[in-house]
Amino acid sequence: MERQFTREIESLRLGDGETFHGEGILAVTKALLQSGVSYVGGYQGAPVSHLLDVMVQARDYLDDLGVHVEACTSEASAAAMLGASINYPARGAVTWKSIVGTNVAADALSYLASAGVMGGTLIVLGEDYGEGGVVAQERSHAFALKSLMWLLDPRPNLPSIVEMVERGFELSEASSTPVMMELRIRACHVKGSFIAKDNERPAVSTRRKLDGPPAEFIYDRLAHPPATFRQEKLKADVRLPAARKFIRERRLNEVFPGSEDSIGVIVQGGLYNGLMLALKTLGLAEPFGAARIPILALNVVYPLVPEEIIAFSKDKTAILVLEEGQPEFIEQEIATCLRRADVETKLHGKDVMHMAGEYTAEAMVRGLSKFLGRHAPHLDLHSGAEWLERTKAIRDRAGELLGALPQRPPTFCIGCPERPVFSAMKLVAQEVGRPHVSMDVGCHAFASFEPFSQGNTLLGYGMSLAAAAGVGPMSSRRPVAIMGDGGFWHNGLLSGVASSLLNQGDGVLVIMKNGYASATGTQELISTHADRTIESTLEGMGVKWLRTVNNYRVGEMAKTYKEAMTTPEKGLKVIVAEGECQLERQRKLRPLVSKQLSEGKRTVRVKYGVDEDTCTGDHSCIRLSGCPTLTIKDNPDPLRTDPVATVIDGCVGCGLCGENAHAAVLCPSFYRAEVIQNPNALDKLLFKMRNLFGGKTVH
Ligand code: SF4
Ligand code: SF4
Repeated sequence: MERQFTREIESLRLGDGETFHGEGILAVTKALLQSGVSYVGGYQGAPVSHLLDVMVQARDYLDDLGVHVEACTSEASAAAMLGASINYPARGAVTWKSIVGTNVAADALSYLASAGVMGGTLIVLGEDYGEGGVVAQERSHAFALKSLMWLLDPRPNLPSIVEMVERGFELSEASSTPVMMELRIRACHVKGSFIAKDNERPAVSTRRKLDGPPAEFIYDRLAHPPATFRQEKLKADVRLPAARKFIRERRLNEVFPGSEDSIGVIVQGGLYNGLMLALKTLGLAEPFGAARIPILALNVVYPLVPEEIIAFSKDKTAILVLEEGQPEFIEQEIATCLRRADVETKLHGKDVMHMAGEYTAEAMVRGLSKFLGRHAPHLDLHSGAEWLERTKAIRDRAGELLGALPQRPPTFCIGCPERPVFSAMKLVAQEVGRPHVSMDVGCHAFASFEPFSQGNTLLGYGMSLAAAAGVGPMSSRRPVAIMGDGGFWHNGLLSGVASSLLNQGDGVLVIMKNGYASATGTQELISTHADRTIESTLEGMGVKWLRTVNNYRVGEMAKTYKEAMTTPEKGLKVIVAEGECQLERQRKLRPLVSKQLSEGKRTVRVKYGVDEDTCTGDHSCIRLSGCPTLTIKDNPDPLRTDPVATVIDGCVGCGLCGENAHAAVLCPSFYRAEVIQNPNALDKLLFKMRNLFGGKTVH
């Protein structure tokens, strides 16, 4: 990837007593090195991509420390990598986006959790839940419960996050169990500082190598029957009590006392900041933290420690559990715990809070108001009620104003190479009819929105072709699967292509070969620097109908796609749509161009435009492109009322406007212009001559 993390890499080198400033996720990166991690892996995805990106770019420094870094091809390979800690005292950390990544990694995680670990293992999960989340809204908590892996949910501030990384490794080793740490979007991006420590050179590393496999062969370290039956017993009888003991003794969960000690709140650590804001809004907390309501903040949300829950609850008339999302795993466990100990404290949670969706500060103010109204009626909550009314008034007013605006769905970057493919598909659909289009995870999913409106299903990363397998045999038209090259290498090759070949599927697969896993921040792939890797892989697997087309050639793309849809030849037909991710291309071009300009060198930038005299104002070009820089403006002709099309500043000159005009036989309104900076003598002469003869040259 071209984005540079130079400053972040420098902060990884900070030593004892120095102050680290930055984001939560980068604090995790530094904390891993302070913990003596031996190896790090993962698969990119918001909000944890930076962790791996920084590690990959810091390879030289990590080599020096002896830390191995691996950019894994999927979450499954990252999880399996943790197998290094089963037999060896090596600490390992991996990261991915959850819930989707944990789903992909689930198989290896089950085996890892069954076998148990010798070296501490930490799985950093980007918990993509709530507002801003982009995947299926589920919680990682379920995986912790089913596999008996421990789940940390630190309070969102840098010292707490760093502390939990360090304690997480120790907890893992004390209980021989992998530990997961969930970080929500806001926790990953929370800014702050902490006092750094020296990085620790790992006990086992690329510089302190193991002397062969373990001296003694231990069958019980294999997650294989009959060992698995013993391992299941170990989980409940040995590892779980050991974990609870460690959590209790090391005080990983925190109690914050308050003067209203007949009631209390038990909160997931990750929600602590929101809770404090809600309490402050209700007039029950000071700006810097001290609250009147006692709080038990669970930095470890699984396993819970019954003694801690009972000690916090037993002298209170009522407690409120704040647990985001469904089902209410923690609340149920607390209820069981209190019932078993005959503690009669009234338990509230999902009865005053909503079941599905994020717990914003506003939601917590509402829920707390209900809880406190019932169990602490003497408290004055009017400031909270007034704030809720003001918030509602603002929201209602915003709703009125926004209602008048047209919707603006998210779309591809300006000049994105994937847009022309969907233009071509839209054109061909006019002739052969609309097919079933199975979408995949990636930038191309933007084509689900206007003006393309293509994409009937989305079943996961690299799953589009597999998701079309059941549709094809039932359809008169061939189904189409769209997949990015990221998705192809992640899962699509085996789940989709191999399965289609095995079952003699007859569909069309379009692979967007833009060179990177773009939607996650443009990380490199196996095919980034190697030409025709995708094509030769497909040929090797037995794909017979295979075409590679330059995306921006809309006419050629349309012809190829139409052939794929209509040829009598049976079997899988693959179009490799080739065009580099524009975001990445612009990142490379921009510094080159600004260097040329600063040196006074001639630079030429291509830009497209619309001749407003010939534009008919039918806007078919906009319906075929959706480029944000191709828009409308008032018609300059007083006799015509339809707005004309126009290209605003920001056009990167990708050429799609011209290609679409030709392929769809639209109109002759588009022109291609060259914007010349630092013109040479010939440019100046041509400029004068064009002006002389009435040509169109503008300053
Ligand atoms: S990041 Fe790249 S592939 Fe994704 S929309 Fe932007 S230009 Fe297209
Ligand atoms: S040429 Fe057209 S599609 Fe390409 S960037 Fe410019 S306005 Fe957008």
